[in-house]
Amino acid sequence: MNFFDLFKLSKPLENGDIFVKIKRIFSSNNDFLTYIDSLSDVLIESDVGVETTDMIINKLKSNKIKSNECIKKNLFNILSELLLPCEVKFDLSKCFSKPVILLVCGINGVGKTTTVVKIANIYKNLGKKVCVIAGDTYRVAAIEQLSLLCDRNSIPIIKQHYKADSSSVIYDSLLTLKKKDFDIVIIDTSGRLHTNNNLMLDLLKIKNTIKKFDSFAPHETLMVIDTNVGQNSISQVSKFNEIIGISGLCLTKFDGSSKFGVIFNLVSNFMIPVRYVCFGENINDIDTFNSKKFLNKLI
Ligand code: GDP
Ligand code: MG
Repeated sequence: MNFFDLFKLSKPLENGDIFVKIKRIFSSNNDFLTYIDSLSDVLIESDVGVETTDMIINKLKSNKIKSNECIKKNLFNILSELLLPCEVKFDLSKCFSKPVILLVCGINGVGKTTTVVKIANIYKNLGKKVCVIAGDTYRVAAIEQLSLLCDRNSIPIIKQHYKADSSSVIYDSLLTLKKKDFDIVIIDTSGRLHTNNNLMLDLLKIKNTIKKFDSFAPHETLMVIDTNVGQNSISQVSKFNEIIGISGLCLTKFDGSSKFGVIFNLVSNFMIPVRYVCFGENINDIDTFNSKKFLNKLI
């Protein structure tokens, strides 16, 4: 199942859903200004953010299009222009080091560990030799959770013990892997609040330690965001990006969220590629981000 099949197979869309709300606006027979007002309300309610909503609405108004179908098409084009620059897949073939190293980070409970295994599985299915490093030594049972998921999906994992220093674990693991000819290594880290300076500096230490192993690594610093969090994800990305630099985003829990709109806000604020969207707990509930499919569903 891919991301967009979800909407066909899952529970019926609820009235509060942004998709339903936008479709309702376009199926009504209102005049232009009423359309625009309703649309503006829906975008803000769905966490698109005030500035990004204003930008979208102003562009719509400036085009002075009055017919329902044309507004719809126009809105599609405006949103598409916004999302398209961030629809960039992570390209393994552009990395010349071996192994390619992916560092996965984010706050607690957003789906990092689950996503690490989902991505490892994608590469495994592409015939790549992939390994996972258990860098979350902080949370009780984090190593066991990752081990279980890896074992279940036949993905090799390197781990040490609970409370070991995460940077040292990661460095030792990378040294162990060096002679084993892996194509890609995915590193799980512990969740940390963007407002906790010490934990953020610890993440910087992890990144710098990886650089000691390979100065071009990590080749991807992937931040995982829970879509349900809505607007707060803006300050999360802002802080993580400031401290360690984020090269890709993965948005999780699309299956239970009415705050999809945050994607527009994230994209217009940071222009960081959205690599993946996740829509469930199972190993295959992940898809690369495709803006056109997303908008076709939306409008
Ligand atoms: P971490 O703390 O960031 O490592 O988060 P976990 O990977 O442990 O995930 C936290 C919870 O969210 C677990 O129960 C996961 O099964 C669940 N989860 C992860 N991704 C998704 C998703 O896309 N949709 C849903 N519904 N649940 C998810
Ligand atoms: Mg975790």
